[in-house]
Amino acid sequence: MVSRYSNSCIIASILTMVDNMKSSSKEEITLFGIPASPGVSHGQVFRFLHEEVEVLNYEVKEEDHPLEIARFKEALSITSDQIKEVREGVAKNLGEKEAGIFDAHLMVLEDKALIDDVEKEIRSTGDNVEQCLYRVTQRYYEYFNQLEDEYLRERASDLKDISRRLIRNLIGATAAGTAFLEDPRVLVSEDLTPSDTASLDRSKILAIATETGGQTSHAVIMARASGVPAVVGVRSLTEGLAEGDTLLVDGFEGVVIINPSETTLFRYGKVGIRRKKLKDLVEEDAQEPSRTKDGLEFHLYANADTPEEVTAAMDFFCRGVGLYRTEALFLRKNEMPSEDVQYLHYRELVEAAAPLSVTIRTLDLGGDKVLDLGDREKESNPFMGFRAIRYCLRNPEIFLVQLRAILRASAHGEVKIMFPMISGVGEVIRAKALLERAKEELRVEEVNFDESIEIGCMIETPSAVTICDILAKEVDFFSVGTNDLVQYLLAVDRVNNQIAYLYEPHHPAVIRSLDHVSRVSKDTGRPITVCGEIAGDPHFLPVLLGLGLDHLSCAPPLLHELKFFGRCFTIMECEKLVEEILSMGRPVQIKARLKEFYDLRVADLLA
Ligand code: PEP
Ligand code: MG
Repeated sequence: MVSRYSNSCIIASILTMVDNMKSSSKEEITLFGIPASPGVSHGQVFRFLHEEVEVLNYEVKEEDHPLEIARFKEALSITSDQIKEVREGVAKNLGEKEAGIFDAHLMVLEDKALIDDVEKEIRSTGDNVEQCLYRVTQRYYEYFNQLEDEYLRERASDLKDISRRLIRNLIGATAAGTAFLEDPRVLVSEDLTPSDTASLDRSKILAIATETGGQTSHAVIMARASGVPAVVGVRSLTEGLAEGDTLLVDGFEGVVIINPSETTLFRYGKVGIRRKKLKDLVEEDAQEPSRTKDGLEFHLYANADTPEEVTAAMDFFCRGVGLYRTEALFLRKNEMPSEDVQYLHYRELVEAAAPLSVTIRTLDLGGDKVLDLGDREKESNPFMGFRAIRYCLRNPEIFLVQLRAILRASAHGEVKIMFPMISGVGEVIRAKALLERAKEELRVEEVNFDESIEIGCMIETPSAVTICDILAKEVDFFSVGTNDLVQYLLAVDRVNNQIAYLYEPHHPAVIRSLDHVSRVSKDTGRPITVCGEIAGDPHFLPVLLGLGLDHLSCAPPLLHELKFFGRCFTIMECEKLVEEILSMGRPVQIKARLKEFYDLRVADLLA
């Protein structure tokens, strides 16, 4: 039997060049994906294909099994050397952080379970090593790939990448890259692995567009680090391409345009010039404090998931970490990290941010972030289900370990604790009781921690908005999670593509809720931060400031533009704008008004 391993050896095929005139007469098609790396580029398509290679299946005599296993071991060693070489190159050209991606690959090659499984497969089936390796890695791949968690699914593509290399080395095939391309092209592929990205000659790549992948896939991280615009998750992209097509990739908006017309190119040419100008302007005064034109100071913080991100965030001159999501630490290995592992992790990020503060959010598992330890019942409505604080309160032994670890880390810098997805005051009271228990245990053990550590809760459910005056009696601060608030207020699942058009942060219900929590925060003296995605959107900035929400936390690369735009208006203008939009009934009206407000102020600067 011969099975097809469609991705096992990479070759590249270039579509025939046609002149611009010819391509501009073709139909323009616009497709949408996920913006993965900022920038706009246009050029001829280079289709990065994965050649089909036969993974032969033949029987090996029992006495030759040790020889098959020896071939396997040799392939492991050759592959390991190759990856180390790629790693070195990436470290030199892009930096140690990007090179770290390949450490995961090296770990797969040393994974005892995988190696044992392949050897067992050879002994039990008597088949050749290529076929056994293919079957075993395919089983692992299928398991990882069906998981809902994006991070773990991406580990499936790491595995596929490694398996490709191993099989290539076993059959003695070599991979072709972009080295032979004469002119730079826009690379289009169904998927792209970190090895693919590393093997590309960056000077020959104008932009990248892929059908699969998420914003956190490793290939994308590398594209971003090397400044190549990229859009991922563009469904049916390769189906729609024909020979000689050109492609425009807008990595800001997540748009891909096949055969853009002259008018589109002209429009994008202007967009490109504006973006570049804006980037220069934005970076000019990045070190200055964030103030409005009339001097009102607002406070910018960073959102982060890893200690490395915290370190990187410090270069953006923020005032601390406003939201540290702890789930990645748990999901990365699909296990509950021990108290010591968590403590060291939290300590690392606290020290990276020192002397600035870090707000650590307790575990927000559930929804789209599922830790599969085999003990979870399938939920038909996971976002409304066993998530975040609900999970922690039902599993106090898990929660206590995290609380103890955070408390221990609080001895090394300024730490605040925040509880997610609060829908009633009882949850805060029970969480605080467990925190008290953790504190008491540490006192008895004579372990240091910050006795006056501040406690806050997320405002991200409609009920929390409504009762925030009651919650205020139990907490030191609030943080508004608009990503969830929008989904729960509007009853729109935030990950359901079919109703994505209904997910409207500009909805009057959202603006009114923000208005309400801001007023309660003032009345009760509880400080409030906004940490959902709207906090990083400059169009929303005047609204948030006008509502009195002047502590914002967002992804670090967005901070410079917020600072820059903040200097373009006065607080009076913000308050007037808020008055106007509070009287509007439709999200589109509000959105258009915010765009107009932004464009009016930025247009002159970019003219
Ligand atoms: C939010 O809901 O706005 C938020 C910041 O939390 P997450 O996106 O992690 O749910
Ligand atoms: Mg949330």
